Amino acid sequence: MTQGRPLLNRRLDGFGTTIFAEMSALAVRTGSINLGQGFPDTDGPEEIREAAVRALREGKGNQYPPGPGVPELRAAISEHQQRFYDLPFDPDTEVLVTAGATEAIAATMLALLEPGDEVIAFEPFYDSYAACIAMAGAKRVPLTLRAPSFRPDLDELRSKITPQTRLLLLNTPHNPTGMVLSAEELNAIAALAVEYDLLVVTDEVYEHLVFEGTHRPITALPGMRERTVSISSAGKTFSFTGWKVGWVTASAELVTAVRSAKQFLTYVSAGPFQYAVAEALRLPDSYYEGLRAELRAKRDLLSGGLAAAGFEVYRPAGTYFITTDIRPLGESDGASFCRSLPQRAGVVAIPNAVFYDHKEAGAPYVRFAFCKRTEVLADAAERLRKAFAH
Ligand code: PMP
Ligand code: GLN
Repeated sequence: MTQGRPLLNRRLDGFGTTIFAEMSALAVRTGSINLGQGFPDTDGPEEIREAAVRALREGKGNQYPPGPGVPELRAAISEHQQRFYDLPFDPDTEVLVTAGATEAIAATMLALLEPGDEVIAFEPFYDSYAACIAMAGAKRVPLTLRAPSFRPDLDELRSKITPQTRLLLLNTPHNPTGMVLSAEELNAIAALAVEYDLLVVTDEVYEHLVFEGTHRPITALPGMRERTVSISSAGKTFSFTGWKVGWVTASAELVTAVRSAKQFLTYVSAGPFQYAVAEALRLPDSYYEGLRAELRAKRDLLSGGLAAAGFEVYRPAGTYFITTDIRPLGESDGASFCRSLPQRAGVVAIPNAVFYDHKEAGAPYVRFAFCKRTEVLADAAERLRKAFAH
């Protein structure tokens, strides 16, 4: 306390340390298998790692790259949107490179929101959404996704729209539930956005990790191009979460607004990695298909293991997370369950309650990440079976 008031401003009051940092530290301290924070335990393609080394050696990106991102990467992002979704984006005016999707989310919220604006977001929400909405002085309005399908109730969505609603913050495929919005849901959400003249921000970092159904960008729908900010990142698609290369694609007007905030957050980042990610985005279809097939097999392995241990498993259609219900184990509080899990089973997981405003709605759910080596997942499954199956 200085001048009699807390050091942390009231907008960030209560945010504390992220659950990911806390749980990864717990895994290290207890020597447990870390199925908490979502990062792969093997790096992405060797040739992409080499591309980063080459860029460093050749002096590409070792000094400040251009504010919007290096032209090679902006071109590759534009090609990627065309190749996978048939969506044209001008690499010079409609693409912005950011320090991971995290900075893209922060810059977008800071750029588009006034204090008092309302943001409707699916609950459970990825933890940085709440913090970024708060930093912008806006108010989050949760739309709770309920088990077992975790699909949004679209009548409830309509009922949450008020004259203060500025934007809808979507996340598909959805972390932590693995829900992937269907074509019908996207059409209905887009129609609401048009009817009420709302902005839509869509976090699509798991766009290539879809096992059932198809990922569809909402920006492709009628009336959406001029009101949608699409966010993605190289972290999940190429298994280099530490490089922190993300991007925004949107109309030139929206990109200009987001860039206004972004330039004062990091200005720019990750110079040499931007060249490597440009190469990664151009990998052949076989790379993307291989990643999906590998993760699908891992999803099935860990889902089977968790079910055998007695958890209720909500098999995810996308992402690399499985949400479970611990009530069949005779437990009801995910937070205390996750704190005791290292000791009971030598495994770390994430209590979904941290992603809820309505803590009681999230209490019995626990998330496990399956972006780990097969033998690690098999070991974790065996530990959980021994600890819980009778
Ligand atoms: N959005 C979601 C839904 C996430 O799960 C994550 C975590 N990877 C991010 C954004 C942050 O992505 P990045 O690491 O690229 O900042
Ligand atoms: N997105 C990752 C997850 O959900 C964590 C990223 C982070 O630690 N900020 O596990």
